[in-house]
This record gives sequence, structure tokens and C-alpha cells, in this order.
Amino acid sequence: MLDSVADTPFLSLVIPVYNERDSLSRLHAEIAEVAAQWPWRMEILFVDDGSQDESWKVIRELASRDERVRGIKFRRNFGKAAALAAGFSAVRGQIVITMDADLQDDPHEIPNFLAKLDEGYDVVSGWKKIRYDPWHKVFPSRVFNKLLSLLTGVHLHDHNCGMKAYRVEALRELHLYGEMHRFVPVLAFARGFRVGELVIHHRPRQFGHSKYGWKRFIKGGLDVITVRLLTGFTRRPQHFLGAWGLGFLAAGVFSFLILVLNLMVRLIDAEAGAGVATQLALLIIVVGLMLLGAQCLLAGLIAEMTVARKWLANEPFSIAETIR
Ligand code: UDP
Ligand code: MG
Repeated sequence: MLDSVADTPFLSLVIPVYNERDSLSRLHAEIAEVAAQWPWRMEILFVDDGSQDESWKVIRELASRDERVRGIKFRRNFGKAAALAAGFSAVRGQIVITMDADLQDDPHEIPNFLAKLDEGYDVVSGWKKIRYDPWHKVFPSRVFNKLLSLLTGVHLHDHNCGMKAYRVEALRELHLYGEMHRFVPVLAFARGFRVGELVIHHRPRQFGHSKYGWKRFIKGGLDVITVRLLTGFTRRPQHFLGAWGLGFLAAGVFSFLILVLNLMVRLIDAEAGAGVATQLALLIIVVGLMLLGAQCLLAGLIAEMTVARKWLANEPFSIAETIR
């Protein structure tokens, strides 16, 4: 029988895969090539996030040739966050490194991540300083990173970099659902883990296409609000909601006073109030819309908190098959 302790890997690579058939063999070969120079025992865990192409077939084939390869296959596409969550709950190593399956991340960076962790970090996030993506992706991403850094106090240049390294203790406390993979450093930081950054080499996509379109910016933007709430106010929502409520109340009282003043002016001199009715009608519409907007946002946040709790209780994925 194999000695299970000696067999335990030190390093786990977690690779989320969604329709990346053409990249997988090359990625595996690259990893194997650089890994030949390392002393560490390693496992490569591919998580097939419900691919419709032959990705799973390729993963099975790789696993049959290389016993370090493991696989998880979802029944359908659950999203990158769920794929990472499934990978995280299955890893056996002490150090976990995630990388994208599309060959944009370079496995040569892995030793640099380990060195950075050794400097005393629990999570190290990659920074694609020179980035090989189209401008319509790079520019909004810059805005997203600035905004998120400002709102959360976690100052990184590239929060959503696919390549990251973790001590396994940090992973165990991350519960990713929805598209929360964009906020891993913020979520880890909120739990008290030390988060660092490492400049990495990035490459253009070779095969297939990006799985995220322009909608990512709307979703990412909304999630910024959610994450700010979840990390800052979950245990005291009234401090957040209540403050807004008070603000609106004050604005309401103020508008009411102006309205009364207007009416008094009209009583004294009917001419002076001409057109006021139209203005008031507009004012009511504007105020109504603003209140409606605020209502939707706040209701959304409350719903999100409920969903977050539900997802925390259940694994946010369903596994169809595993290898090893
Ligand atoms: N991915 C995934 N599930 C999805 C979308 C993407 O597992 O629903 C994987 C994808 O296969 C890739 C990584 O997440 O390995 C990053 O995706 P992509 O390269 O499309 O993102 P981009 O580089 O454009 O940000
Ligand atoms: Mg990519």
C-alpha cells in the first residue's frame, strides 16, 4: 500500500476550466516541464465547470498519463467562483495556487509565488502589470481595481487576477459563490489574513475566447457594493441601512419645508408662484425615482445577505464525477 503521508502533495494547482479543450494539453505540458525543476510534490486539479466541448475528455486523458492530475466535473456551468470553491474543498496540499486554463498565466511564476508567501503572506495575488488583453477590458478593470481598493482599503492593482497563491488555512475560510472570485483578496483580508501582491508575466489568449463579455462590468460593479456590505456591515446592517435612511429622512423634511415656504409665498402673492405646480410635479417624480432606486439597491443588498448565508450552508455546486 502507498504511504499516504509521503504521498500528500505540498502544492496543489487548481485550474478552473470552461471550454478550454485546445489549451489543456499544452498547459499540462508546460506545468510538467517547469515542475521537473522543483523539489515539491504536486497535484494538478482541473475543475471542469460544465464545459460543452471535449475539455473533460482531455482531462481524463491527462489523468491517465500523469497520476498528479486530478479532476472534478460539474453537471453544468456554475461559474468560476464555484469551480474554485470545489477545487478548494478538494485540495490536499498546504499551498494552493490557482491559474487560468487558457495559457494566459505562466507556470514559471509558481516559485515566485512560493517565495512571496514565505515573506509572511497568507494570500498572494498576481498583478498582470503588462497585460495582454483588449483595451475595452483593461480600462474598466483599472477603474474597478481603483474603486475596490478605495472602498475596501485592500490596495491591489489587480484584484481579479486568476493567478493567486494561498496557504490552505486561508482557503478554508473563503466561501465563494456567484461571481465572488473577483473579491478573494478582499474577503481574505476581511478575515484577517495577510494579503500581498506579485507582478507576473501575462500572455495573450491562444485558443477560444474570453468567457466574460461587457456584462462583467455591471455584475462586478454591483458586487463591489455587495462585498463592501458583506465585509463591513453584515453584523451591523443598521449602521449602513440606517444611515441612508436618516439621510433620506432629512432630505424629505428639507423638501417639505421648501414646499411649505413655496405655498406661503403663493398665498401672499399669487403671481410669484406661477409655474410652481409644474415644478412640484417634476420634483415629486425625481424624488420618487430616487427613492425607488435606493429601495431597489437596499433590497438587493438585503437579499444578497440572505443568499450569502444560504450559499454558505450548501456547497454552491454539484459534482458529477471525480478522478482520484
Ligand atoms: N472559467 C470557468 N467558468 C466560467 C468562466 C470561466 O471556469 O464560467 C474559467 C476559464 O476556463 C478560464 C478562467 O476561468 O480558465 C478565466 O476565464 P477567461 O479567460 O474567459 O477570463 P478573462 O481572462 O477573459 O478574464
Ligand atoms: Mg483569460
